[in-house]
Formats: sequence, structure tokens, C-alpha cells
Amino acid sequence: MRILLVEDHPSLAEAVVDALRRAGFAVDHAPTAVSAKQMANLTPYSLVLLDLGLPDRDGLTLLPELRADGRTPVIILTARDPLEDRLAGLNGGADDYIVKPVEMPELVARCRAVLRRPGDRSHDVLQVASLTLDTVNRSLQIGGAPVLLGRREMGVLELLMKSAGRVVPRRVLEEAIYGFADEVGPNALEASVSRLRRALLSAGCELPLITVRGVGWMLAKELPNGTT
Ligand code: CA
Repeated sequence: MRILLVEDHPSLAEAVVDALRRAGFAVDHAPTAVSAKQMANLTPYSLVLLDLGLPDRDGLTLLPELRADGRTPVIILTARDPLEDRLAGLNGGADDYIVKPVEMPELVARCRAVLRRPGDRSHDVLQVASLTLDTVNRSLQIGGAPVLLGRREMGVLELLMKSAGRVVPRRVLEEAIYGFADEVGPNALEASVSRLRRALLSAGCELPLITVRGVGWMLAKELPNGTT
């Protein structure tokens, strides 16, 4: 899951990006409304965190444009507290409204709450053979036992599980796991896949993770002998 943070305050933005990355999300940071629109046009986000007091525009006017497809949830993050501002934000289509200052654990928890569709956890929890991945909590279990994975390895596995049995192209994986600001070496994705493969094997999961040279990667739906 990739999150867009629209926030012009440098140290607050840094703290939020850091907290969300630690929680396992890929994050892009836009300090202005213009850069936010550019990023949102280039990549689909799972969630937008939107500051209202931006240097070039009022965030409230930007809100409908950032969720132009009608689906991307938006959380307003602002120092404004009056009731009419909160109502304007919520009536404008925001999914939640966080008033600064905010503690990072609360901010992460509220992002997770918005990402989880109410009443339907089946979309949030992926299951392939013995693997169970909670896409919102960013946690993995293999055969019921928790397994720790790095943020990028978790992102790769999420996409492979969503498309188990089908090849996931390199470009799709790169878009989902790297933010625009990430420095990505030419073999970074290969390295993440290798780490993921090793982590699965050392946790006792022998589900084949197949490299399709020049195209991408595929996670098998089941073990070669048909068991899970
Ligand atoms: Ca601001």
C-alpha cells in the first residue's frame, strides 16, 4: 500500500513519513498542492493525508481532485480546529479529520482504520497456501506463526499473493513498493525478491516464487505436490 502525504511543514512531514514507513507503508511526500496533483496523476494511492494550509492552495479545494476516481480515501491533517472547518472537510468527502498536534501512533492507527473497509475484512487479509498476509496491519503469518519481513519485501509479497498463479510485471512491483524519493539501484527489486524468497524458505514455506526473466515474478498458488 502506498500513501501520499501532502504537507508543507518539513519536520512534521519527516516525522509522518518516518512513522508510516516504520509501519510498513510506502510513502510519497508532496510539500505543495501542485506537486501533490502531479504525484496523484502518476500513481494510484491507497490513501491521501492532506494538510489544509498549503503554500499554493487551500487543501480543501484540492480534496475533490485528489480523489477524482471517487475511491481513494483522504484524511485531513490540519491545525484548524473550528467545527465549521471540520464539517467542511468531512462534507467535502474526507474520511477522517486529524487535528495537529498528533501523536504518530494515533496517526498510524487512524490511517489503518480508514484503509480497512468497514465490515469487510476479507479484502484486507490475503491467504495463499500457508501464507496469511494482513495488508493493513502489514503482518505476515506462515502456518499461523508470525514472520517478520522488511517493508519492501512485504510490498512484493502482497502483490504476488494478490495475483498468485499469475506473473506480476516488474513495473507493477516497482510502482507499488518504491516512493518517488527512494533511491533505487538497478538490482534493488531482485535483491528484495531474494530476501523474500530466503525469508519464506527459512520460515518453512516452500511455495515456489518463480522468476520469469525479462517479465516479472510469480508466486505459485500451491506446492508442486498439490499440498499447502
Ligand atoms: Ca501547512
